[in-house]
Amino acid sequence: MTRLLIMGAPGAGKGTQAARLAIELSVPAISTGDMFRDQVKLETTLGRQVQDIIAAGDYVPDALTNKIVDERLTQDDASTGFILDGYPRTADQVTHLDLLLEMQGTNLDAVIHLEIDMKQLLSRLFKRADAQGRADDSPQTIQHRLETYDLTTGPLLEEYKSRGRLITVDGLASMEEVTKAILHALHHRAYFVPTFALGSAARRGDTITPLKMV
Ligand code: AMP
Repeated sequence: MTRLLIMGAPGAGKGTQAARLAIELSVPAISTGDMFRDQVKLETTLGRQVQDIIAAGDYVPDALTNKIVDERLTQDDASTGFILDGYPRTADQVTHLDLLLEMQGTNLDAVIHLEIDMKQLLSRLFKRADAQGRADDSPQTIQHRLETYDLTTGPLLEEYKSRGRLITVDGLASMEEVTKAILHALHHRAYFVPTFALGSAARRGDTITPLKMV
């Protein structure tokens, strides 16, 4: 059973790490951003509702976002675990996810925070804009998305930290090193750290430097 969230600013590498962890841990990586983009491509009613919101770099309303997450998390392949990428992003979504998991009699195992500084983020996002041509990767939208993250989503990390669920990893390290650091921290939590022992870096929510985590 592995129920994880991956959090971090746009461009921190959430999608890449979610995909890599999904293979390592044999659970689906579920990205709300990907689900919305699929709906836009398929020109569904939902797709038409969210298209302009996404292109502007705004958040899709909680009610719509919570609904697609409900539908996705109750599918069979998510019954033994999942890695949620890009959700929750608002306090309302945190509450909604809590309730959903409570109804299922489960809980989150860990919340992974990919930490990365603003300058690096901007350079990554501009590169991604060139490579993927995403509608929401224009310079103005990038700036707006980063501000929205700082204002609305960043503060949610404190909540997970206070619950003892947060694992912070240096998102600037190489892709391989970041994955290794996350797996190491998860392993550490699951097998070597009794729940009552608050001494470990992972449980305290301290930053873990991937390079040190061999
Ligand atoms: P992402 O691929 O995670 O960067 O998401 C792309 C866009 O999809 C975001 O900028 C939002 O417009 C929308 N989106 C994805 N996840 C959420 C969410 N949890 N809450 C609101 N909007 C979301």
